[in-house]
Order: sequence, then structure tokens, then C-alpha cells
Amino acid sequence: LKTVHVIGGGLAGSEAAWQLARAGVPVVLHEMRPVQGTDAHHTDGLAELVCSNSFRSDDPNASAVGVLHEEMRRLGSLILTCGDAARVPAGSALAVDRDDFSARVTAAIEAEPLIEIRRERVDGLPPPEWGQTIIATGPLTAAPLAEAIRAQTGEDALAFFDAIAPIVHRDSIDMETAWFQSRYDKGDGKDYINCPMDEAQYGAFIEALMTGEKTVFKEWEASTPYFEGCMPIEVMAERGPQTLRFGPMKPVGLTNPRSGKKAYAVVQLRQDNASATLWNMVGFQTKLRHAEQVRIFRTIPGLENAEFARLGGLHRNTFIKSPVLLDGMLRLKSDPRIRFAGQITGCEGYIESASVGLLAGRFAAADALGQTPDLPPRTTALGALLAHITGEAVAETYQPMNVNFGLFPPFDARVPKKSRKAAYAERALADLDGWIAAP
Ligand code: FAD
Repeated sequence: LKTVHVIGGGLAGSEAAWQLARAGVPVVLHEMRPVQGTDAHHTDGLAELVCSNSFRSDDPNASAVGVLHEEMRRLGSLILTCGDAARVPAGSALAVDRDDFSARVTAAIEAEPLIEIRRERVDGLPPPEWGQTIIATGPLTAAPLAEAIRAQTGEDALAFFDAIAPIVHRDSIDMETAWFQSRYDKGDGKDYINCPMDEAQYGAFIEALMTGEKTVFKEWEASTPYFEGCMPIEVMAERGPQTLRFGPMKPVGLTNPRSGKKAYAVVQLRQDNASATLWNMVGFQTKLRHAEQVRIFRTIPGLENAEFARLGGLHRNTFIKSPVLLDGMLRLKSDPRIRFAGQITGCEGYIESASVGLLAGRFAAADALGQTPDLPPRTTALGALLAHITGEAVAETYQPMNVNFGLFPPFDARVPKKSRKAAYAERALADLDGWIAAP
């Protein structure tokens, strides 16, 4: 059997290597630490957690990441097995002792006879003799490889920073207050949702943005210039009280159908996924703390009960424009022997990164074994995240995404809101079991 190469021994690369080996496929895993470190890693362990020690909710009936945990367990995930073994008390969340966790992943990979670990930095795209390769080098991919990827994918297809605007679940927007309209009625009229503000509401909103608590850049992030085109909304507000009214909150070309008048200012939301369940707040990238975002953005008329699929942020983050660059099996369309996995594909989070590693590993294993890989059902958390990354997300505004129920296909029949999460979980796990059992 031909060896598969995996570059990067983080959350995604370790999981991908493990899945390959479980399928009987030999692997070379290239990890640059400790030969070269990153600004965030501190050890030479595989799957080091660079910040929080939490894998977030472990309850499938309460959150989509809980569904993803359970799906990965059922598929023999190394990251979940080691996470469960290194668990520390954290209520309904799965939190781990980070050293114990990384030590367990490292020991399992080192003990696996089909995996060879090479501690070296890979500085270019894989040479042809490597054959199938998975690139899982994460948000802090070393510069020479990042440049090589950029040369292959094109200048604007690889980002070094994310600039994340909050995303709102469509069914939590009050359409009695908000309305559909494109500026100057261009487009099909359903492209934007508009939330109006009067002068007093606008003034209070600007004040709240400026006084709201912010997160700060880490020293190594602050040294990288990022401001062009993705200035945080609160920084714009600081430039003068009218700046936002002449920027992302400009009211021109929009008429509130309820009053027949132009509003003083307007917050616009733009469709973010193919099924129109998720809408992003246009121009609202922010470094406000998450709790502050929820508090302040719920003062926007129409968003009083907004539920956020993702909150805003700005971070150092290397990721590619996957929806246009990758096929449905995570292969680079322009060079299909190369797959991408983990955060570099534009998923967000430890578990999401590991889950995309799991899929890349299984797809690569199937290829190596001469089988045709099967996509996970679209109704599963794995299938929903994969579909988003590889095509359903709007490419022009593509930014990293956590798994969330807004990515799942809605039900045909109406399911009461109270039981909807549990219904998504039940459908996902039943369909996953069917997928696993299929010959
Ligand atoms: P990584 O886990 O970073 O693994 C990539 C590996 O590739 C690393 O081991 C690196 O050394 C190696 N590598 C890089 N370039 C090369 C090369 N050229 N050759 C060989 N090896 C290479 N997510 C959360 O869920 N919770 C958090 O609290 C959280 N905090 C974060 C904090 C920071 C500062 C950052 C940058 C990200 C954070 N994330 C967090 C996001 C993300 O979940 C993690 O970065 C996660 O580790 C991504 O997994 P990965 O496998 O894609 O990348």
C-alpha cells in the first residue's frame, strides 16, 4: 500500500493519521515542533491545545458540537478517545487536562506501527513522489509553506487573519421590525435583511460600542498589520459619531416599509449559507468580548432575540478559500493528490479541526485502498460542516465557522423550537449509524 503523508501533528493531523492507520494505510506524519515552534504552542506534544482546555458542550441535545463529539466517538476518533480519558470536571462541557490529553495522543501515535513521525518543517508543496498528502498545518502554518500554498491557490485565496462578523440564525430575527431589501433595490430583493435605527437608538448604540469591553491582541498578533478592509466596528465608531452612518450602517437607498421613510441608520445582514438559515452582520467584525456582543447587538431593532451562530472576532489565522478551492472530499481541485484538513480549511475550533482531519483521513484511506469514499450524510454534524466548507458557504465572504445547527438542513415538517435541537441530534445520529453500517 502506498504511504500517505500528513503535514502537521496538531488536532487535525493527528486524527487524520490515526484514521489512516486504523484503515491499514501507512502514514508519515511531519511535525515541525520542536525543530521550529509557533507563537502559540509551548510544547513538542502532538495535538497541543494552544488556549482553552475545553472542547465545549458534550451534550448532543443542547449543541451541535455535542453532536459532533458523539459522531466522532462512533467513528473511533483518537481525539475524542483521549479527550474522554483526560476529562476534568466541567459540567456538561468536555474539558481536559491539556498535558495528559496531548501526552495520550502522542503516545497513541508513537505506538502505532503504521505511523512514522518525522520532526521536520515542510517548506513547500509535497513533491510528486509523496503521492497523497494531507496538509493540516493549522492557523499558524509556517511561512514558507503558507507562501507555497498561496502561490498555488492565488493571492486572495489564502488569508493570514480572520475578520469575523457575527452570524445570526434567520429564525431569530424579528421580521415584523426588519425587512428584506437590497440597497437601491438592486438584486432580487431578498439579498439583505435590514434593521432600522432612529437617531436616539443610533447614538446609544455608538456609545455602547465605544464603552463595551474588548479583547486585546496578543503581542505577536499586534505586530502584523491587518486593518485594510477589516477594521473592527468599534474602531470605526471611535473615529467620529457619524463614521458608521457613512460606512456599514448607511441608510441610503433603503426605505422602511413600515414607516415609508428612510431610517436614520441601518444594520444590514447578508445571507451566509445556501439554505439561507444563517445571516451575517455586514461590516460588523469586532473585538468586543462575546458577552458584550450579545448584549449590545441585541439592542438593534429586530435583533432583540437574536441567536448567534457565531460571534465576531479578529485573529491571526491562516486559512484558504475552501468553498472554491476544494472538492467535496477536501481535495485541492487544481492538484487532487493534496487534501486539506483542520483549521486551515476555514473550520473553527479544536473539535471542528479534528473532525475535518477525521474525514480527510478516511477519504485518503479509501483512495489508498482503491475504494470510492462515501460522503457523510448531509444531516450529520460532520456532513453539515463538510458541505459548508466545501461549497455551501458564500465564497466571497468566507470566514472561519464553528459547527452549529444553522448548518443542518431544516426539517420538512414544523418542529417546535423547544425540541428542535434534540430532533437535529436524533436525526444526525440515526443517519450516521446508517452510514457506518452501510457496506
Ligand atoms: P494545529 O493544532 O495548530 O496543528 C498544526 C500543526 O502543524 C502544529 O503542530 C504545527 O507545529 C504544525 N506545522 C505548521 N506548519 C508546519 C510545517 N510547515 N511543517 C510541519 N509542521 C507544521 N480553538 C478552540 O476550540 N478553543 C480555543 O480556545 C482556541 N484558541 C486558539 C488560540 C489561538 C492563539 C489560535 C491560533 C487558535 C485557537 N483555536 C482555538 C483555534 C483552533 O481550534 C486551534 O488552532 C486548533 O489547534 C486547530 O487545529 P489544527 O490541527 O488545524 O492546527
